[in-house]
Amino acid sequence: MNYCSNCGAPVTLRVPPGDQRPRHVCAACGTIHYDNPRLVVGCVPEHDGQILLCRRAIEPRLGYWTVPAGFMENGETLQQAAARESYEEALARVEIGSLLAVVHVLHARQVHVFFRATLPAAEFGSGVESLEVELFAPADIPWSDLAFPSTEFALRRYFEDRAAGREPHHFTTIDRRLKPGGGSHS
Ligand SMILES: [Zn+2]
Repeated sequence: MNYCSNCGAPVTLRVPPGDQRPRHVCAACGTIHYDNPRLVVGCVPEHDGQILLCRRAIEPRLGYWTVPAGFMENGETLQQAAARESYEEALARVEIGSLLAVVHVLHARQVHVFFRATLPAAEFGSGVESLEVELFAPADIPWSDLAFPSTEFALRRYFEDRAAGREPHHFTTIDRRLKPGGGSHS
């Protein structure tokens, strides 16, 4: 950030009084611009034992498969966000179920939240952000062509729990920030 979104003056990076971290602070109007993690919300929609996946028509990870998911909007609940994203990306009217997984994606400054969901009718299509949308039997999930590690985590836990007849929720952390002097490990 270079300029204040409140008044347009240049901002500087400094630790405000009483704070512990550097923030973008406007010297003109005094606004402190906080930069906090963003919530990405999605679900694993199941219909008749099959899972609805979308192939991404947008970057990042264009052409790879994911469950319906996207950024939460102001004024909606997590469940509403998950249902809205399913309709926008897959034209699918889902019923959101129990909490499946919370994935802290530290390098992306995001928290991904996934719910179990039911797709009552096999009615779906490609939203503008999807190249194609398909129902996959568990044996046909394109594991090597999934868009994100969080997608894989959610799907693997989903199938494990379903086989066990349980609906717990799971937490995990993914951190691909480079360690100083540690080089790159992809
Ligand atoms: Zn300002």
